[in-house]
Amino acid sequence: MSESDAPRRLGKYFRGSLTVSEENAAGEAAPPDPLDLVAMARAGLNYLRGNPEPARHHECRFALGPLGIPCHYPEWVRPNEYGYDPISLGDTDSRMEWQYRHMRLIAGETDACPVERAVRERVLGYLRDDGFAWINPSAYTGRPEKGYYVGTWTTAKALVTLTDIYRHDGDAAARRRARKVFEALRRLAQWDGDRTWYMGIAPWRDGQWLLANWCEQHGRNYPFIVEPLVHYGEGCDDPEALDLARAFTEGFLAGSQPDMGSQRIDPESGAYTGHVHLHTHGIWGVAHLGTLTSNKRYLDWARRAYEFTVACGTDHGWYPEFIPQQEYRTEVCVVGDMISLGVWLAQGVSPSYWDHVERTVRNTLARSQFFLTDAFVDLFRRIHSHRPGLEVEQALRELRRLEGGFVAQANFDDWVSYPGNPALGAPGTANNGIHMMGCCPPEGLRAVWEAWRWAVQDERDEVRVNLALSREHPAARVVAWKPEDGGYEVTPLRAGRFLLRPPAWATREGVVLSRNGAACPVSWSGPENAYVLCPQVERGEILRISWPVPCFTQTFTPSSIKDRDERVSFDWIGPQVVRIHPKGKHLPMFG
Ligand SMILES: [Zn+2]
Repeated sequence: MSESDAPRRLGKYFRGSLTVSEENAAGEAAPPDPLDLVAMARAGLNYLRGNPEPARHHECRFALGPLGIPCHYPEWVRPNEYGYDPISLGDTDSRMEWQYRHMRLIAGETDACPVERAVRERVLGYLRDDGFAWINPSAYTGRPEKGYYVGTWTTAKALVTLTDIYRHDGDAAARRRARKVFEALRRLAQWDGDRTWYMGIAPWRDGQWLLANWCEQHGRNYPFIVEPLVHYGEGCDDPEALDLARAFTEGFLAGSQPDMGSQRIDPESGAYTGHVHLHTHGIWGVAHLGTLTSNKRYLDWARRAYEFTVACGTDHGWYPEFIPQQEYRTEVCVVGDMISLGVWLAQGVSPSYWDHVERTVRNTLARSQFFLTDAFVDLFRRIHSHRPGLEVEQALRELRRLEGGFVAQANFDDWVSYPGNPALGAPGTANNGIHMMGCCPPEGLRAVWEAWRWAVQDERDEVRVNLALSREHPAARVVAWKPEDGGYEVTPLRAGRFLLRPPAWATREGVVLSRNGAACPVSWSGPENAYVLCPQVERGEILRISWPVPCFTQTFTPSSIKDRDERVSFDWIGPQVVRIHPKGKHLPMFG
């Protein structure tokens, strides 16, 4: 391997101009990777338990701005007869409900706490006898609304909740209730021959879709329906749900839903405009269904839209909130969706998508998890220095409840992406400086769940290690090395055939394998020959795989803002960004 080969090899996976400074040879052992999915999940539980307000029947909090005093200040839809923070209803709570169980499974906690049970009761309480979730739809339209509407979004989220109750707790009543919810969602389907559609996520009542305010756009974007149907169809073993998921997907591909304009995904290029999360949330299920049914048309459609989204972002897991947008801001909801999409594309299309998943987790996701870091606390005290000290300390104590959540809208290298709107520390989600809307933290936690769930894959006839992330799995204990050392150690917990994946960007000639300390010849196997084969592995053996790690600088012009030609540079060591230029001004995330 010569150094001059690295830019060409890396150029297949990283955009822009690449300058490789060095590439270290593979090592034999190294210190463990500090990235800890279990710690991220434990912190996530702190957030999930700290967000809901017990005094308000565990209403969840959407309008969070951690630099503001107070940190919770619903400014877009003021408290009204439906809720204190009406935008949280049927959305923030529904998203959070999914993640309590996931984070407990990662952290090894078996029992639901009272907060989890209360939030579950809240989201299932939206369901009426007709099977629909009836909600006050401020979360959909972003303005005060009168009365209650059917929300397909909330209904579909409850379908997943019920499926998981059946699947994990064996509760047959939850399965019967899920079937009723499924039948309700099917009744509302609008048919175009064999294909079907909804008006995006618009609320519905008396035969009308409410296409107002946010829903002028969101009603003409994709509905969130395919993934919930596939999840329910698999989890409750209902093939009719997979039929309906196919019909919605055919509707997506054919453009059955009217008036989508340029929000419709161009089936040739994958391009679209508008709010990214509603696209990626819709596409996710298509990638899942495509993988499940080996449907190349579905996978191609999902892959093109995914690739378009990556092209509008960066290679370190930062994806824009809008295409086009006014400022560089991501949305952690999109980060979560892209990881969920990535795990299916990695299985249905190419294992190289596991690298996208890992880079997104290591960089934007891990660096967006909210903690009271020294830098944050310093900034907080500074901007509130005119206030009484006791008030500031009380506000900081209150913020402990939000630790483990996610900063929703970082730019490339700064938690503060609204620096003067009007001033740092002003109360309000988009006013205080750090946007932490309540939709995003649970979606960030979903990404932690996906990475943990898929890092090791037990396929009965073989065990695959997909991600260079530490993971205690029933089939294998994986200890990842620091990313600059490029490698991981696997202790098989059952005998059999093991497949270990190095990153796709690693030079193949440089990959080193050892078993119980003895170097072994490397032979390639699995999909796209992307894995190193370890046949006839015995329980308790020590397998080590390592690869050379390039250090390089990547420079390009991000494209989500029209006519902005500012170039941004990323210093990488393997899959990890260590520095970004220009550096974040207030609370830099790297370097
Ligand atoms: Zn969000």
